[in-house]
Amino acid sequence: MRADLHTHTRFSDGTDSPSELVHAAHEAGLDTLGITDHDTTAGWAGAEQAARAVGMRLVRGMELSTQVNSRTVHVLGYLFDPDHPAMREHYRLAAEKRQMRIAQMVEKLQPVLGMSWEDFRAHYPDQDVIGRPHIADMLIARKVVATRKEAFERYLTPRCPYFVPLRAISALEAISLVNTCGGKAVLAHPWARGGRELLDVSFFRDAKEVGLFGVEVDHRDNVDRGELAGLVASFGFARFGSSDYHGLGKVNRLAEHTTSAEVVHALIEGCFLEVV
Ligand code: AMP
Ligand code: FE
Ligand code: FE
Ligand code: ZN
Repeated sequence: MRADLHTHTRFSDGTDSPSELVHAAHEAGLDTLGITDHDTTAGWAGAEQAARAVGMRLVRGMELSTQVNSRTVHVLGYLFDPDHPAMREHYRLAAEKRQMRIAQMVEKLQPVLGMSWEDFRAHYPDQDVIGRPHIADMLIARKVVATRKEAFERYLTPRCPYFVPLRAISALEAISLVNTCGGKAVLAHPWARGGRELLDVSFFRDAKEVGLFGVEVDHRDNVDRGELAGLVASFGFARFGSSDYHGLGKVNRLAEHTTSAEVVHALIEGCFLEVV
């Protein structure tokens, strides 16, 4: 088995359509693919159709935006009931909070971007989920910066005056939500971007208590992966590895990290949804 369970499409901040993602995964030699857009399942249907056509196993998932001590933490939810009332409420609230926050950042950036929030929003009619990467793309289009990375460094990180924090549910609430909806939760890239200090042993202990299933250890943005792997094993969490592919939006390549067949089988077992 070759499984990459964390990828994005155009429905959030990736650049591929769901069908393009499935074909790219097939070409990258994967036989099992996870689709995990930020706070939306809108890409599932298209990915399912393409996966059946090329014979790809598809694990439907979503990356939930959450917070711990006012800092953003990502939780991956897999194979949950997308129509569960608690999940429906999550999409609605997440979209509302995201939209408000991005509107505030675009307004602060008006002198740099030279456009109103209304004009900005109109550029992304198909996106349910607008995030900082879309501001980065607009800064590129306006030739203010050359890459998303440069856009983040100069305008979009918490150090920048234009930054507005995203309010979200706590990581522990998100893990419980996924479990309530019949899925399993995996902590995404915990030791990326300063997460090492935030997500410590005491956080892992709390996460264990609310039923966290796994942790993404093998991810290019994690620091001290050896130590993280030891911690993850000591708590009995399953070890995941993924690319976090965003199409042209990031340098991450499909299948650059993968998850073992054993872990994939344990993940699938007993979830509300089946693998396509
Ligand atoms: P948001 O959800 O609007 O806060 O945006 C978070 C998303 O921005 C992450 O999921 C990444 O896809 C992207 N991102 C965060 N930091 C960077 C960075 N330094 N360079 C490029 N993309 C980033
Ligand atoms: Fe992203
Ligand atoms: Fe993430
Ligand atoms: Zn991601």
